[in-house]
Amino acid sequence: MTMSIDIESAWQELRERVRKCTKCGLCETRHNTVFGEGPVNSRCVIIGEAPGEDEDLSGRPFVGRAGQLLTNILEKGGGIPRDSVYIMNVVKCRPPKNRNPKIDEIRACNEHLEAQLALLHPDIIVPMGNVATQALLAGSSGGISSMRGKWIDRRGVKIFPMFHPSFLLRTEHNKSENGPKYLTWQDVQELKAALDKLQ
Ligand code: SF4
Repeated sequence: MTMSIDIESAWQELRERVRKCTKCGLCETRHNTVFGEGPVNSRCVIIGEAPGEDEDLSGRPFVGRAGQLLTNILEKGGGIPRDSVYIMNVVKCRPPKNRNPKIDEIRACNEHLEAQLALLHPDIIVPMGNVATQALLAGSSGGISSMRGKWIDRRGVKIFPMFHPSFLLRTEHNKSENGPKYLTWQDVQELKAALDKLQ
């Protein structure tokens, strides 16, 4: 399936709007905006919190160590080719020193996020980590540890929060049966099963 000409032109306009955006202070320190990448007709969208240094320099999402781990989780853990899903972030510009994006920055960028989701129209959205999960499910109670691996409805779209790969890198010493790595391997297999049901 390809995009209709109307949607394709709306997508290009949106990409250009993001590239020129100065709606929050993150525009002052960015090298590149990181719009996202992947097939626009994917049934599944993965959303991280914000670009890091590698992403800021390359203009691509999830390309550093966390990005490599994301590829492994998807492909080795779930048998989901990375290039079969659309990957993006809640905010499109890098927060200095990789701090979490602030609430006003998330609010400023929300217009872009919602516009992307409206055009991508996925069946499943996977927010990775607390920031992305809270941005998508504002007002929900509980952190990522209690929300991961659960299916939550958001305006008819299935939301399936998972741990952020950066968190897994920080906790890689934890190899216990209920540790983040073990749970993530379970989650990605459940994601794969859900994607297979959409076929
Ligand atoms: Fe604009 Fe989002 Fe970048 Fe802020 S983070 S300048 S709202 S694109």
